[in-house]
Amino acid sequence: MTEHSDCIFCRIAGGEIPCDFLYADEQIVAFNDMHPQAPVHILIIPKKHIPSLAEMSEEDIALVGRINLVAAQLAEAVGIGKSGYRLISNCRADSGQEVPHLHYHLLGGRYLGAFTQQ
Ligand code: AMP
Ligand code: ZN
Repeated sequence: MTEHSDCIFCRIAGGEIPCDFLYADEQIVAFNDMHPQAPVHILIIPKKHIPSLAEMSEEDIALVGRINLVAAQLAEAVGIGKSGYRLISNCRADSGQEVPHLHYHLLGGRYLGAFTQQ
């Protein structure tokens, strides 16, 4: 059991829920979103349970920086490195955050439009 056994992303990251990881290391895993909003829609999450960016602390700076690097590497790997992509982290209620475990949406494979149209 993970420390946060009621958290779906902790359970995925901890291997309790089977998932095909597109990327995994000691700190981070990435997998396809179950309800894709674009041809490429990958979730990149830390294994550490951080509820949202609002609870990020100084000790997480390298981890969050690494997530950005992994996002760029995954984008290249799945073929959207040149065409472009968007990396989003929803934070708390007004963003529509549904899963209270820090995660980044990597979206691409189509024109996503100006951010203000979303
Ligand atoms: P957010 O609204 O930013 O909290 O996004 C949560 C995302 O997690 C949504 O896009 C869901 O489709 C996705 N999601 C929730 N549970 C799973 C799961 N078990 N496997 C893959 N994606 C999931
Ligand atoms: Zn969690």
